[in-house]
Amino acid sequence: MIYLSLGSNLGDREAMIARAVEELARAGVTPRRLSSLYATEPVGFLAQSWFLNCVLKAETKLTPRQLLRVVQRVEKDLGRERTTPGGPRTIDIDILLYGSSVIHASGLDVPHPRMGERRFVLVPLCELEPGLRLPRSRRSVTDLLARTADRSQVQLWGGPSERDDGVGPRR
Ligand code: ADP
Ligand code: MG
Repeated sequence: MIYLSLGSNLGDREAMIARAVEELARAGVTPRRLSSLYATEPVGFLAQSWFLNCVLKAETKLTPRQLLRVVQRVEKDLGRERTTPGGPRTIDIDILLYGSSVIHASGLDVPHPRMGERRFVLVPLCELEPGLRLPRSRRSVTDLLARTADRSQVQLWGGPSERDDGVGPRR
């Protein structure tokens, strides 16, 4: 089983995520479960609008390297332009976990090295797999979420009717 993080903060964010899941499926990433969508506060480069984030649980016969290439092609197809690092994007797809593999290769680190510092990853992953343990640290997702220093806001998204002016969800 593999877990991907999908996030978007430009354009029709919900449609971007749906299209990404479809394109991944066509490329050999068979979806098993998609978490709820969460409205999330941008982390790092703050002068941008909120994201929608979710986690996709899937199966694939692709190798990790092939999977990275597919992910990058789907990002490109959906119009992602690399401008500011960590800045606005139509879609960002990160490989969180690839079974229990630990990979440190050029341009590919799995488990994703920053997943423990990102509530926007841990909250949707915890919805799907609260008891899943990460390779090496053997910590569960629930445990990582309880321990993370990240305090950024992650809120279950209420759908397109929710106030969505780029500032954030309804408070
Ligand atoms: P970020 O996701 O950190 O905002 P990018 O999506 O532009 O930034 O990714 C930067 C680089 O991270 C990619 O070129 C890719 O090679 C590398 N990378 C390393 N490990 C992973 C991973 N597990 N999933 C996705 N990209 C990864
Ligand atoms: Mg990325």
